[in-house]
Amino acid sequence: MDNNKQKIIKDMQEVIYQMKLDDIEENPNSEYEMFNCSACAKTQPLAGSIQYSKYRLCNDCVLLYELALKLNKIKNIEEYMQKTEDKRLEEICNFIKKDSQKENN
Ligand SMILES: [Zn+2]
Repeated sequence: MDNNKQKIIKDMQEVIYQMKLDDIEENPNSEYEMFNCSACAKTQPLAGSIQYSKYRLCNDCVLLYELALKLNKIKNIEEYMQKTEDKRLEEICNFIKKDSQKENN
């Protein structure tokens, strides 16, 4: 990876993380209020999440999405959602696995 790309990633990480801190400062509850991220399917805190059209992305996914946009990997949120479908399936499978393990115990 070239230095320029590394700088873009580092800068973006700081910006997106700062958004989370700002949210928590504005509304301390947002750190503990959870929602299901549209992109990674994990249960994540509302702080630092962003609504993009009909999808709400957690702070981690906002970072990945904004980076993908910046690096011209995708054009919009619909394309991002298509490309991350495998990731969601994996997460849902893990969840089901954990759930069935619980039942067996
Ligand atoms: Zn997410």
